[in-house]
Amino acid sequence: MEPMQSVEPDAGEPVVLKSGREKPVIQHHPWVFSGAINRLPSDVVDGEVVDVYSPSSRWLARGYLNRASQIQVRLLTWDVNQPIDAAFWRRRLDEAIQRRRQLDLDATTNAYRLVNGENDYLPGLIVDRYADYLVLQAGTLGIDKRKQELAGLLLELTGCRGVIERSDTAARRLEGLGEAHGLLAGEAPPDQVEIEEAGLHFAVDLAGGQKTGFYLDQRANRRHVAAYCAGARVLNGFSYTGAFAVHALAAGAAHVTNIDSSADVLQLAETNLRRNGYDPDQQTENIAGDIFHILRDWRDAHDHRFDVVILDPPKFAQNKQAVERALRGYKDINMLALGLLKPGGILATFSCSGLVGDDLFQKVIFSAAEDARRDAQILEWLHQDRDHPVALTFPEGEYLKGLICRAL
Ligand code: SAH
Repeated sequence: MEPMQSVEPDAGEPVVLKSGREKPVIQHHPWVFSGAINRLPSDVVDGEVVDVYSPSSRWLARGYLNRASQIQVRLLTWDVNQPIDAAFWRRRLDEAIQRRRQLDLDATTNAYRLVNGENDYLPGLIVDRYADYLVLQAGTLGIDKRKQELAGLLLELTGCRGVIERSDTAARRLEGLGEAHGLLAGEAPPDQVEIEEAGLHFAVDLAGGQKTGFYLDQRANRRHVAAYCAGARVLNGFSYTGAFAVHALAAGAAHVTNIDSSADVLQLAETNLRRNGYDPDQQTENIAGDIFHILRDWRDAHDHRFDVVILDPPKFAQNKQAVERALRGYKDINMLALGLLKPGGILATFSCSGLVGDDLFQKVIFSAAEDARRDAQILEWLHQDRDHPVALTFPEGEYLKGLICRAL
């Protein structure tokens, strides 16, 4: 066996893998689970950089450590000569930014994901751009420790006015972290930042909205779905701030019913409708309540029929234990929605649960149709928009799927 040698003279002890557990690392999967590790360093603090070696003392990769997490190392580089220094972070951020430039998103929108975590080779880091402001989400200890530095670099690289933090995902608890909010760099954004998407305008509450403020991943899908809405009576289930509704009306929808459990988001939906020249009282109905109950009542009363139903629920499956229950939820809501469609009507249905893959989702919609006694055809498969790329080395990066079906 060769002696263990680290390229960085001041590097601490390495992480050594168990035998037979090197393959994912060699294939550039960015996660090293505790079960794959034979030996942890005694002299590296959680959040700091470690080298990862094979049991036969071969250098494999470098990442940051967190003993408190199931994913004890998140890998940053597979190049032995690449130190994890300020120049590294700057280059990785710049590469992610350049990749968005290549997509020419600025031609149609000023709100998009700038850094998509593992899929942009920056594990744990999400950055969304909303006009002149950035929202940063630190999902891991390694990123949390560097968030000030990263925010400074982001301001410099984008010329934006400010970076705020919205680190409130459940995944942070698995890293031993609580929630963190606030201004990281530059100036604080106003209460509502106005963004543009395909010529339409939306007010976004960066500090208090869901996710980082807006469902950017659905951008392209809003246009796909709108294409079925000319002249249609549309039900926009799980409407949030009405983005699908505004797009549907812009495409000529006759009327949109928005349903969301939060009255606050519906208020912002009304603002967004007005801002785009639509009259919320005439052209929409905005109902605050539990959509499961509302649709069940409508089914029993036989008094509601739609040409298009959109269902964009929150993530039902937060973890493996929750998948069974989530599948029942998806089936139930889709069964109810199918029952409200006119013959030939369109169901645009989504799931953002990464644990529910395309095949499984299609099966759920099939059994929902069976229970609703409706035959249906798949017209289109939809996924998250291009600014949320999926690294081939990281299939976990794919989470949003949608089906556009015609109900017969
Ligand atoms: N389609 C939206 C995003 C939807 S996010 C867009 O493109 O912007 C999911 C929404 O579902 C949230 O706004 C949440 O408040 C709402 N929601 C969650 N559970 C609900 C329920 N049982 N009934 C109605 N709305 C619900």
